[in-house]
Amino acid sequence: MLAYTYVAPGDFRLLEKPLPELADEKDAIVRVTLASICTSDIHIKHGAVPRAVPGITVGHEMVGIVEAVGSAVTKVKPGDRVVVNVETFCGECFFCRHGYVNNCTDKNGGWALGCRIDGGQAEFVRVPYADQGLTVIPDTVSFEQALFVGDVLATGFWAARISEITAEDTVLILGAGPTGICTLLCAMLKQPRQIIVCEKDEERLAFVRSHYPQVIAAAPEELTQTIARYCPHGGADVVLEVAGAKDTFRTAWQCARPNGIVTVVALYEEDQILPLPQMYGKNLTFKTGGVDGCDCEELLALIAQGKIDTTPLITHEYPLEKIAEAYDVFENRKDHVIKVAVRC
Ligand SMILES: [Zn+2]
Ligand SMILES: [Zn+2]
Repeated sequence: MLAYTYVAPGDFRLLEKPLPELADEKDAIVRVTLASICTSDIHIKHGAVPRAVPGITVGHEMVGIVEAVGSAVTKVKPGDRVVVNVETFCGECFFCRHGYVNNCTDKNGGWALGCRIDGGQAEFVRVPYADQGLTVIPDTVSFEQALFVGDVLATGFWAARISEITAEDTVLILGAGPTGICTLLCAMLKQPRQIIVCEKDEERLAFVRSHYPQVIAAAPEELTQTIARYCPHGGADVVLEVAGAKDTFRTAWQCARPNGIVTVVALYEEDQILPLPQMYGKNLTFKTGGVDGCDCEELLALIAQGKIDTTPLITHEYPLEKIAEAYDVFENRKDHVIKVAVRC
């Protein structure tokens, strides 16, 4: 089968590989119908993910049809349409039992697919702990609608969930890339009084303005003035930092009101400074990133009910044979791309 492979830093190639086989009674084999490309894949390509193993098939955001299951798998069966979870988790350890599946202590726990073990930018993928890692897609939900449930949408949902958003709140979201928009969609479900999205890219701002007119979309240079206008208590009640740029952590805590919540979803390339003397008396609560991707079933139900729709994010589609082209467009932000779907 064809599999897009991390050969070495800077070198991804579409290679012919043997079909994956069940290696454990809890495994499943999934025939991938659609895969997407995530910024984390680009980080691997740049050699910025030290734990990524050369030779592995990349891709950790995909949907497909169950081809085979091990003898201990009970929740899915061959023929089921499924979402694959970005995280591998055992479902039994201390962290899994508390819903902190990102910290699963299993040796394959956490982000394994497309990083430490073969992922899904391929025709088939082996999914360990299939009962945890796969979620059946409702009949009324298409593969396109479900494509982001296991990764970027799970991240947005988790971020909105831990941020304790109430109906009284003004919520500020920094960053309107794919994860930022998923965070926005999930924050909107909480029906806060107002949502402000700050983004430096003009095209992304325009996307927010055209698709979500109820949201205030601001460029960074307008942010101070926007906060002053919409936040009566000196800052946003909740800030979700999804941008991960050089100054956005500082912007996040500076834009929060005293006693506000700052949730850091972004993955930074560099250490960040927490200048406690400057924020003394501001009494902020910080929550930090690493999605606990265990809400896939709830997300699929919300999609089925029409409460979340991520299909506008799919701006481009390619066959697996042309995945290098898809990477080029996504990585270099060509042609107004937000997310690509790869037909496997
Ligand atoms: Zn990802
Ligand atoms: Zn676990």
